Amino acid sequence: MVLSTEKAPLRNILSTTSIACKIVDVSALNSTTHQVELESTTKVIPHYIAGQYLQLQLDLNNDGRIHSFCYSIANSSNSKQSRRLMLFILNTSNLADRIVTYLIGLQRTMAIVNVKLPMGQAYLQTNLSLPHLLIATGSGISKIKCISEEILRQNPDAEVHVYWSNRKLEDFYLINEFNTQTGRHKNFTFHPILESPHSKWPGRSGFLFEVIRKDFERFDNFQTYLCGSPAMVYSTIDKLIDKGLKEDNCYSDVFEYAPRKSRSNLNF
Ligand SMILES: Cc1cc2nc3c(=O)[nH]c(=O)nc-3n(C[C@H](O)[C@H](O)[C@H](O)COP(=O)(O)OP(=O)(O)OC[C@H]3O[C@@H](n4cnc5c(N)ncnc54)[C@H](O)[C@@H]3O)c2cc1C
Repeated sequence: MVLSTEKAPLRNILSTTSIACKIVDVSALNSTTHQVELESTTKVIPHYIAGQYLQLQLDLNNDGRIHSFCYSIANSSNSKQSRRLMLFILNTSNLADRIVTYLIGLQRTMAIVNVKLPMGQAYLQTNLSLPHLLIATGSGISKIKCISEEILRQNPDAEVHVYWSNRKLEDFYLINEFNTQTGRHKNFTFHPILESPHSKWPGRSGFLFEVIRKDFERFDNFQTYLCGSPAMVYSTIDKLIDKGLKEDNCYSDVFEYAPRKSRSNLNF
């Protein structure tokens, strides 16, 4: 069977702009993830759509050279605090750790950081009367949180299924927020998945695609947003295709920054 591996390019409907922000909060969500809140120094944040990302422009090495780092925006532009942008930064590498330390320094000195937004084509753009499958690993939950909140804001009865996989128990830092949504919305389900079984984990474990496959007979009409590594995104799609999932109904930033054809040698 020949599968479509490329999506048609979408129209970039919002122009990208740079704004000056202050870092108003950097707090640990767990031992490896920080929540960062930025506030625009002007009255408003440019409009963005749930699922888009931004670029922090940082003089990280203090040598006058600006480096750009991408982060999904975790809060909807329709949230109450419309001047604020929320990010979740996973600091499991030296570089990410330096970025978090740098941002803490900016917060302390109340320095300005330039932020470019909105970016990305994998934003919320689907018919909300169709079922939605939202899939994340690790800090990919940032984008999925934003999209799920926006779907439910627009259509409180939308059918939405969130799957979030993590390696460690402590990584489920948003479990209460999602459980609250489950109580409020009759067609919303939340499935935290631990990669491997653990004696203290009462929930499900295993590969994401295995768990998702068990929950549904078919995926023909499902609109699917995925946020995680290219390997996770492409392998999850591939493992659901035989049950009717269509790649044309899938949305992920990896389609832009790690398209299949340029990664064929990595088996994506
Ligand atoms: C669309 C998109 C959305 C993302 N969203 C998130 C998110 O929500 N949360 C999250 O935690 N991460 C996110 N990331 C990943 C994030 O942008 C960074 O990659 C990460 O924080 C940096 O850590 P890393 O070790 O993974 O760096 P890598 O991704 O491995 O490297 C990033 C780049 O920085 C360069 N670099 C290395 N050292 C330096 C240095 N000293 N100075 C300047 N540049 C250097 C590298 O050459 C490389 O090009 C996203 C990435 C993309 C593309």
